[in-house]
Amino acid sequence: MFFLINKLEEHFNMPKNIYLDPEYQKKYRSQKEHITRQKQYKQTLKENKKKLLFENIGDSCSFCGSNENLELDHINPKIGGHHKTRGHRGMNTSINHIQKQLELNNLRWLCCKCHKDHSKKQLNAAWNHFINLPLDKQEELLLQYETPKQNYETL
Ligand SMILES: [Zn+2]
Repeated sequence: MFFLINKLEEHFNMPKNIYLDPEYQKKYRSQKEHITRQKQYKQTLKENKKKLLFENIGDSCSFCGSNENLELDHINPKIGGHHKTRGHRGMNTSINHIQKQLELNNLRWLCCKCHKDHSKKQLNAAWNHFINLPLDKQEELLLQYETPKQNYETL
């Protein structure tokens, strides 16, 4: 983003023949190389993650054995670092997180279909658990999930 703003500023502040300027071309080339290096780094990181995962948890769905559309699943969501509310479920997939979760034996592959089915079952189980609680317990739980109101100071 910062790079883009820089480029825009350059574009509007410089004379039109800027692209012919060897200094500009040099700078442009080095920025391009920087981006290429970043892309390579991301690609390597992705490959390292894949290798680490394949070596530790194989390369097929834990439920049906399929090798297609695999998604990483945290076996126990509680220690998987999921956010408390499902509407905002950010999953941390840094290599550090993956290593820790592998040590806890908390990762497995699920194919897209099995993952969806499994999540649906989890939601249904949670719902059934909830509606079987006494009303006061239900209300107590709901309070924990209430969106906090923003208190703006008024002048
Ligand atoms: Zn499956």
